[in-house]
Amino acid sequence: MSVAVIGGGWAGLAAAVSLAEQDIPVTLFESAAQLGGRARRVAINGLTLDNGQHILIGAYRETLRLLAIVGVDVHAVCYAPSLTLQVAPAFYLSAAALPAPWHLGFGLLKSRGIPLRDKLSAIRFLAALKRGVFRVTPDFSVSTLLAQHRQSPALNDYLWHPLCLAALNTPPHLASAQVFVNVLRDAFFSARDASRLLLPRVDLGQLLPDPAAHFITAHGGNIRLNQRIQRVALTDNGFALHSDQGMAQFAQVICAVPPFRVRDLLGQLPPLQPVLDRISALQYQPIYTVYLQYAASMRLPFPMLGLSKTLSQWVFDRGALSGQAGLMAVIISAEGAHEALPHAALAEQAARELHEQLGFPVQANWTQVIAEKRATFACLPSLARPDNLTPIPGLFLAGDYTACDYPATLESAVRSGLQCALALQKAMP
Ligand SMILES: Cc1cc2nc3c(=O)[nH]c(=O)nc-3n(C[C@H](O)[C@H](O)[C@H](O)COP(=O)(O)OP(=O)(O)OC[C@H]3O[C@@H](n4cnc5c(N)ncnc54)[C@H](O)[C@@H]3O)c2cc1C
Repeated sequence: MSVAVIGGGWAGLAAAVSLAEQDIPVTLFESAAQLGGRARRVAINGLTLDNGQHILIGAYRETLRLLAIVGVDVHAVCYAPSLTLQVAPAFYLSAAALPAPWHLGFGLLKSRGIPLRDKLSAIRFLAALKRGVFRVTPDFSVSTLLAQHRQSPALNDYLWHPLCLAALNTPPHLASAQVFVNVLRDAFFSARDASRLLLPRVDLGQLLPDPAAHFITAHGGNIRLNQRIQRVALTDNGFALHSDQGMAQFAQVICAVPPFRVRDLLGQLPPLQPVLDRISALQYQPIYTVYLQYAASMRLPFPMLGLSKTLSQWVFDRGALSGQAGLMAVIISAEGAHEALPHAALAEQAARELHEQLGFPVQANWTQVIAEKRATFACLPSLARPDNLTPIPGLFLAGDYTACDYPATLESAVRSGLQCALALQKAMP
């Protein structure tokens, strides 16, 4: 009997690729018409867009390895500049051509838009994190951490808060300092390339789901789209998966649905109740993407630009990245006042901010807002994230929410899928 993977997001795809690579028969069930989950291609008004602009960084070790396995040359599909942070109106930081962490230290010294005392204070902060072996015990909020290290309002506005929102999708006063420090450690202290930005030049479907699907089927696996698994039950020799298309039996199951769907599937398995309670306790944070179409000649000075003291946090130039000339993607991570606005008003506000800060026309020609209300779990201090292994042998949990020292990201999703595949192989007779 083969293995079932339920859910074709990046976690489920990572698991299925890894199993298929080992010639383990695998069937992947996905309820939607396409793979990718929360990082997927969407078609709107004849345009190919993403459900939300995604960025990867060089520290996404396992994601990069997975892309290589399925035959993706990351440098062909991503624009990969060394770390560059530009936040309007004045901040500019570019990593120096030095080994880590000196690349960032010298980059900070040469940065523009903050006074020298702030640059030194940021360097002292990073050095203190390293001296403390990147441990925050007991865990508390990012705001408390920044206050303890006397980071100035300018540093917070231009550097730490944008990084916290982008990486943890949780406001600094709520976000886990430990997870934030984990991200700083891996991005800035491991190797110079770890902080490299990887900005997709292709839609998210082409980045992983399409080549992964090809890899899985070429290695004998099955992919069943439009098949929602309603319930998983125990049988004498494995698991029965029930859907409106009938029942199918499998020896082992990797459940890779988003955390807020796990109970629907596994709620009837009594040994799992403590794990399900832990998952049900997770809270969620949104991510809004506002697409604004301007004349083809409109460009940003750099494909990814931060804005400060605005609802808009980052704006990406899709023309420079993927040839969609004049198309801007404005990102608003985590909860905030924007959630109360109707989509048309939010798009108008984003356009107004691009007009005031970057000199864009007052109005865009065309707009589209995509609101992912439960984009990620809220990355709160001391969060108890469930393990990939469950109390039921042969049943595994994959997803960005499972135990990992990263926040909810493509990397944590991929790591969880690979870990499930590895644990499953170890458990095989
Ligand atoms: C707008 C947005 C922007 C983001 N930006 C970034 C970024 O820049 N960088 C980054 O690293 N991360 C980013 N993230 C986070 C990242 O997208 C997620 O962490 C990751 O995609 C989660 O993958 P997953 O496989 O764990 O879950 P999901 O992607 O949620 O996959 C679960 C899959 O299960 C399927 N499913 C659900 N129920 C069933 C069922 N009953 N039967 C069968 N299938 C089912 C779903 O349709 C889905 O395809 C962003 C997320 C969003 C929403």
